Amino acid sequence: MADTVKAALMLGPGRMGMGEFPYPSPQPGAVIVKMEMSGVCGTDKHTFEGRSKQYAGTEAETDTPFPIIPGHENVGIVAETGGRVLDFYGKELRPGDRITWGPDLVCGKCWYCRNTFGYPWCESIKAYGNAFSSNDWPHLTGGWAEYMYLFPGTFIFKVPEAVTPEMAVMTEVFAVSYAVDKAKECYSLASEGFGAGAATIIQGVGPMGLMCLIKARILGAGDIIAIDKSPYRLAMAKKFGANYTINMDETSKEDRLLFIKDLTDGRGADLAVECAGSPHAFIEGLEMLRKGGTYIEAGNFVDTGETAINVNRHITAKNVRLFGVTNHPFTGYGPSLKLMERYADVFPFSEIVTHKYPINRAEEGLKRSFEPDTMKVVITP
Ligand SMILES: [Zn+2]
Ligand SMILES: [Zn+2]
Repeated sequence: MADTVKAALMLGPGRMGMGEFPYPSPQPGAVIVKMEMSGVCGTDKHTFEGRSKQYAGTEAETDTPFPIIPGHENVGIVAETGGRVLDFYGKELRPGDRITWGPDLVCGKCWYCRNTFGYPWCESIKAYGNAFSSNDWPHLTGGWAEYMYLFPGTFIFKVPEAVTPEMAVMTEVFAVSYAVDKAKECYSLASEGFGAGAATIIQGVGPMGLMCLIKARILGAGDIIAIDKSPYRLAMAKKFGANYTINMDETSKEDRLLFIKDLTDGRGADLAVECAGSPHAFIEGLEMLRKGGTYIEAGNFVDTGETAINVNRHITAKNVRLFGVTNHPFTGYGPSLKLMERYADVFPFSEIVTHKYPINRAEEGLKRSFEPDTMKVVITP
């Protein structure tokens, strides 16, 4: 064990630094993890730009309590536990186990915890990598560090042997693709929701869009059309099962609508998943849907302003099924790990991590992740 632990700090919007903290001893039920890898997420970028309210619109809404140790998409090795600690499925954790864990701590007592499994609206939700100041004990509450402290009650998942750290670091993002499972629940003889052969549009194929694309492919999508501005990301989408790619910068909105109509005998797509994070993409996606189609809005995670929607044309006249997604249920972690294990030979999951930066170059990694020729950038000790 180390005496001190190095960590990358976000000191405030636009300001990164380094910190050194005492190696903590675990309280009963806590776990100390030796970090292997921690993703740079869109949320970290928003926080760095000073645009992030955590859990805006909920009881838990807060400003970021700088300084923080960022990092909520995590994988590491159990260093020690505070007594007997169980994983999400009731298996005992031992030193040496590779684990990943949910980024949110929930109370288990409020209405949302008791009725919706605590995601993501627990009235006192606390997120690793975002909601804890590194000034406060136990300091090590984000993944861009050598070690991390997991409080009792953290939802922890053992990583199967066939799943590499590069794959396991994607578990949280993959879990968000439960949105596609959610659409599947609505499939009926009237062909609503998402079903076998559904023409599926993924708007924005960054890491989250890519994971939704993979989920749609595994669940039986027909044609998958990936839309993005980055040729790099579009090429990757093809590798992961997109049949068609459309470059936003090389086409007009009319071109894109025409392409989708042509592909679907004039009807429009059965399902569209918005992962671009733009209110304009939201409108465009609705226009690309057929009547009775299904729309998943997952990308507008921060409030970037308003957009003009034609309620009749975009929603009512289409009988659209509309899902908003801000997070994932913790139950999504186990299935995500299983799918990565099962499909390890089908999808080149390990290629999703395109860039690795040590913690003392976290700022560089963070800035690099803004570039269009990256997929997942990770911080690794
Ligand atoms: Zn994230
Ligand atoms: Zn709660």
